[in-house]
Amino acid sequence: MSEHGIHHVTAYAGSAQRNLDFYTQVLGLRLVKKTVNFDDPGTYHLYYGDETGRPGTILTFFPFDHAAPGRVGIGETQETAFRVPRASIGWWTHRLVEKGVAHEAPTHVFGEPVLRFRDPDGMMLALVGAEDEGEGAYAGGDVPAEHAIRGFHGVTLLLGAAEKTAAILTGVLGFHETAREGSSIRFASGVSQGGFVTLRAVGGFLSGRPGAGSVHHIAFRAADDAAQEAMAKALTETHGLAVTEQRDRQYFRSIYFREPGGVLFEIATDGPGFAVDEPVEALGRALKLPPFLEAHRAQIEDVLPKVA
Ligand code: ZN
Repeated sequence: MSEHGIHHVTAYAGSAQRNLDFYTQVLGLRLVKKTVNFDDPGTYHLYYGDETGRPGTILTFFPFDHAAPGRVGIGETQETAFRVPRASIGWWTHRLVEKGVAHEAPTHVFGEPVLRFRDPDGMMLALVGAEDEGEGAYAGGDVPAEHAIRGFHGVTLLLGAAEKTAAILTGVLGFHETAREGSSIRFASGVSQGGFVTLRAVGGFLSGRPGAGSVHHIAFRAADDAAQEAMAKALTETHGLAVTEQRDRQYFRSIYFREPGGVLFEIATDGPGFAVDEPVEALGRALKLPPFLEAHRAQIEDVLPKVA
């Protein structure tokens, strides 16, 4: 049976080293792939996730050393949230204090405990205390497995109006509305990892400006090429949206479209996954390049900042 939900989230960052240190050493995620932006090979593309980087656990970054900060506004992702066991919210609050990470007092959203904080580039993140224990804890990292992040909870999108985006979520991407709270509408796809999208409709407000700390796009899951093609057809024929041709991203195959609220969406296939070009034990250690860039490895390694 095909599962729906978030496949990955991709954002801009400043320093690659600072980004790597934060996501592996503070949040305890695994670096599952060190590659380059296939559309701009002078820039890293760093992927973090669980042990194998399963769909629903993958946060990726394009780091630029001197990137100007972005600004959150309408047509953008406001918050990216991870799942942790409910009993671990207190442990995480202490950890953020100990690591000097700016955060807010824990609060409740849609009945769940939420701990909001920012990454070193100002990206808005949250930990949501999930009722179930959850799978996908990376036991090999800097966070004990009992408290480790269990993939994404979901994302919150800031929009002028919610209706048209809601129609894409429910009509094409496999979500259904579950609750409303103030100006927010919660949608669920039925999976625990990456299974939630919240739309916040705020009417007239400043547009977002891309930069360090801002999300570039949200990718949703398709079981395979046929499922992806059916979704593309629904987007163009039923919703009148322009969708790109399929692009081979080595670890998944992708199509992209701008949803009606202004957020860049992607639909990515579940396979082949990150073990396609290196063994699971070695994920993230070596710089991996797709075949079409391998001939340029020397020049690419020359311009990339060193990270360790
Ligand atoms: Zn993507």
